Amino acid sequence: MKKKLNLSKITHLLFSIGLVCFMFIVITIVITTKSAKANHNVIDCGAYTSDMNEVFSKISSKWNSYKNYVENQTGFNLSGCLENRFKKNGDVKCKALNNNHAGEATFGLSRIKIDNGWLNNRTSVQRDRRACVSALMAHEFAHTCFSVEGRSDTIDESTFNWWKNEYNTGNSWHSCGIYQ
Ligand SMILES: [Zn+2]
Repeated sequence: MKKKLNLSKITHLLFSIGLVCFMFIVITIVITTKSAKANHNVIDCGAYTSDMNEVFSKISSKWNSYKNYVENQTGFNLSGCLENRFKKNGDVKCKALNNNHAGEATFGLSRIKIDNGWLNNRTSVQRDRRACVSALMAHEFAHTCFSVEGRSDTIDESTFNWWKNEYNTGNSWHSCGIYQ
């Protein structure tokens, strides 16, 4: 049997292949953009909202510097969970907490709580206050990622020191009053 090449069939086939490739590229771009996009909610934090947003943006934009510094000081691996909290999915809710807790967190949840009273007691200038806020956020996010309390304590102090070095802040970690 003689096979005859049909030009319109070939055109149709090429068009179909092209369409499939195009759809594949579009879907890949949509998925990549969606997964890379940060989606942080800072809830009920009033005038301090910009502090939390600043911590999210500074730590995620300087992630390698932050990660290397803290990992060297603590020996913990910050990739994965803690990285995602700062870069993508960490949320902060401000509220009045009991028992003098500066913050609270639950293992496995991406939302942490920060005490309104603790924030109001950070009377230092804004750039110094943010060093404390970065330390507390790191402490609480560490609780959401690691089930061991000691990790949060060491991570918050080295986060404070990284921030202090990076932004020339003048206060000391002890002035942050981070308990819990
Ligand atoms: Zn704690």
